Parts: sequence; structure tokens; C-alpha cells
Amino acid sequence: MTIGEMENVEVFTAEDKGRGLKATKEFCAADIIFAERAYSAVVFDSLVNVVCHTCFKRQEKLHRCGQCKFAHYCDRTCQKDAWLNHKNECSAIKRYGKVPNENIRLAARIMWRVEREGSGLTEGCLVSVDDLQNHVEHFGEEEQKELRLDVDTFLQYWPPQSQQFSMQYISHIFGVINCNGFTLSDQRGLQAVGVGVFPNLALVNHDCWPNCTVIFNNGNHEAVKSMFHTQMRIELRALGKISEGEELTVSYIDFLNISEERKKQLKRQYYFDCTCEHCQKGLKDDLFLGVKDDPKPSQEVVKEMIQFSKDTLEKIDKARSEGLYHEVVKLCRECLQKQEPVFADTNIYTLRLLSIVSEVLSYLQAFEEASHYARRMVDGYMKLYHPNNAQLGMAIMRAGLTNWHAGNIEAMRMQTEMELRMFRQNEFMYHKMREAALNNQPMQVMAEPSNEPAPALFHKKQ
Ligand SMILES: [Zn+2]
Ligand SMILES: [Zn+2]
Ligand SMILES: [Zn+2]
Repeated sequence: MTIGEMENVEVFTAEDKGRGLKATKEFCAADIIFAERAYSAVVFDSLVNVVCHTCFKRQEKLHRCGQCKFAHYCDRTCQKDAWLNHKNECSAIKRYGKVPNENIRLAARIMWRVEREGSGLTEGCLVSVDDLQNHVEHFGEEEQKELRLDVDTFLQYWPPQSQQFSMQYISHIFGVINCNGFTLSDQRGLQAVGVGVFPNLALVNHDCWPNCTVIFNNGNHEAVKSMFHTQMRIELRALGKISEGEELTVSYIDFLNISEERKKQLKRQYYFDCTCEHCQKGLKDDLFLGVKDDPKPSQEVVKEMIQFSKDTLEKIDKARSEGLYHEVVKLCRECLQKQEPVFADTNIYTLRLLSIVSEVLSYLQAFEEASHYARRMVDGYMKLYHPNNAQLGMAIMRAGLTNWHAGNIEAMRMQTEMELRMFRQNEFMYHKMREAALNNQPMQVMAEPSNEPAPALFHKKQ
């Protein structure tokens, strides 16, 4: 598979969804449909000193750009690779005297590229940045305000000797970033470290039960021998069999929610009404809202329990953001106990608590209890997610690490069986997770719980 080769797909106009991509041949699970380099990408503000600005790997020791002292790289190879995209940025930062935020840095990188290559189609792109959707006309008041602020800062940062763009064009670019930004993760796949724009990927429409997933590949920059040197890219991979002519889809959001809530989230963040089969038929909604069978609780009891769970989740969010992890655990334990006679184990309110409590307990090194909750969580997830779903894979892997820590042999055995099953179903996903698990040195302390348990694929403000 050559990066940027797009012969496996074709742009078409879908009746109700605008443009889309369809397959020009048949694919099997794990096949790469296309691989694409970022048009432009930047490291998140909070991580600019610990993540390489070229390959987005997290490294112990990075070399700093001697000129701006802002950009960081693994080594000379990554630094050399970056220069074309960093050159203008480097002098702009020196002139401006400070570093603007990630949004502005990304917009500027895009516009310097447009300045270099023109705004038409660039090699390997089926669509130009000019033609990507921006949805600026759908922005609410708050978003409009943020946009104006970004444009203002951008104009101060943008050097007078660079090509000057109209206000409308600058707004368009910010709109493109807002609805087409894709999250880049570090080499373990566990932490979101940056955001990039991939024009071809932006043509792939959403489906809550998609036939493709996106894998971020940091590339191999270590090898000096150019034979092994590969560049950072995304890969669109088939989740199962795809027929010739079938539309290719990915999911912009996590599937784990009732269809009504997913639709609301998609409308709020991506400005469209989801008409996918799962949303139209409300598939799996019964499981997401599952209650105990015997005895079946009354509607009144269920309603109260949902409200109680929502309130508790709010309290948990607050405690978590203040770093009060023991309080988080206490709230989770109490709520789970109350839910026990009412909710089934696929109920989203139970699964959310299980996910939080297992993550936080791992962090607190209470592995025994953490692994018990993680096990329940994975059992629930298996009934809900597509077997090749990346979120499911990450959950299984996290549960595995917890079991490893707890020295839980029986759970490890079941974990192995589960991995074996995954291996048979989907070899590439298995390797990706295995690599992530091995890179996450088992003896180290678990990472501090973040508000976002696993990095979301698509970069979107809440
Ligand atoms: Zn690097
Ligand atoms: Zn520099
Ligand atoms: Zn949907």
C-alpha cells in the first residue's frame, strides 16, 4: 500500500448526505483501503515539549529547535522532515514573541501550505482544503465568538510578508479544522497528543455502526536506513467484508449511547441528523437501557434510578476534576450497589460507572477491586460493540493490564482466550493492541485518570 494512493475509492454524491466515498473493489477485515499523510498537523499546547512535532511519538528526550525553542523532535531525521512545514512557523513565532494556541498554529500551517502549493488539488488528495465543509453558517453564538477571537489572534500572528487571505477564507479554514480535525495519538495509542487535517478522510461519512475504522500510524523514524523509514499517516481499514460499490463509513463518535443521545451529539458537534440504520431503528437501545428481568422493576423505580445515576455522574465528574479520587471511588461503589437490583449489566449508566471506577482504582493501585469492575465492564461491552470496534479493543487491553497487576491468574486466562478470539477475528487490531500493551510497561504506575478515558478518534470540543 503506497501512502496517498487512492485507487481503491471513488467520490460519489450520496442522496441525503452530500459527498461520500465508495469502494471500487472488495475488501476483507483489516485490509487497508487507503493511507494518507496529514495535510497539516500540530501537537496539543499542553504537550509541545514531550511529543515529537513530526511523528507525534512521546519521548523521554527531545531535541529543541535552536531558533524558536518551541518545536521539539526525536532526532535529526524528524527535524529535517519537519523543516518545510516548520520554516514559516519558526520565524512567525520569533516575530510574534510567543506561541499561539494549537488551533491557530494549525490554521497557519494549512495556509502556508496553500501559499506554497496553491489552493487546488494537491497530489494524492481527492478534494482540496478549499472544498472541505466548514459549517460556519451553523455556528451558535458561542462558537461565533470563539471564531472571531481565533481570527483576531491569527491576524496578529500571520506575518505581513506571507500571502494575505480574506477574512472569509480564514474563517473557512477555522471551520474546516472544527469539523474535520482528527485526533493523533502517541505510539501507544493511549493518549491523544495532537490534531491534524486529512482531506480524503474528511470525505468518509459517519455511521454509528461503520464498516471502517481509522488507525493512526506514527511511522518508523528510528531507522537511518531509508528502507525502513515510513512516515506518519492514518490508515482507513475495513472492519469486515466490504463489497465493491459499497459506501465506506467511520464513526465520528463513541457508539456507547442510546440512539437519541448519539443523534443529539452528532447534531451538536457535526451539524447533521444521523439516518444510519442503528439510529433509525434504535438498535441496541433496549440493551443500553436494560433493566433486570426477575423481578422486573417498575417504571417509576427505573426512572428514579436513571435520575439518581445522572446526578451521581455529575458529582463524580466534579470530584474527578478536583483530583478527589477516593471520593470518586466511594460515589461509584454506592451508585453501583443501588443500581444492582434495577439495571442489567449492559445498561449505559452501569457501564459508565464501571469504566470510571476501574480506571481510578487502577490508578490508586487497588488492582484486585479494579479488575473485578473491569471484568464486568468488558462483559457488557462485548454485548454492545461491534467485535472489531477499537474502543472495545482498548477496554479489553486495559482490563488485561489491570488483571496483570492484580496477579489474577483466572482472569488472565480468560483474557488470553478473549485475545485469541480477537486474533482470529481481526489480526491487525490484535497486533495494534498488543504493541500498545507491551509499550505500556506493566510495572509502571497507571497513568492519572483523564476526563477522556480513551482518546476519541475525531477531535471535537464537547
Ligand atoms: Zn519524531
Ligand atoms: Zn523553530
Ligand atoms: Zn446513527
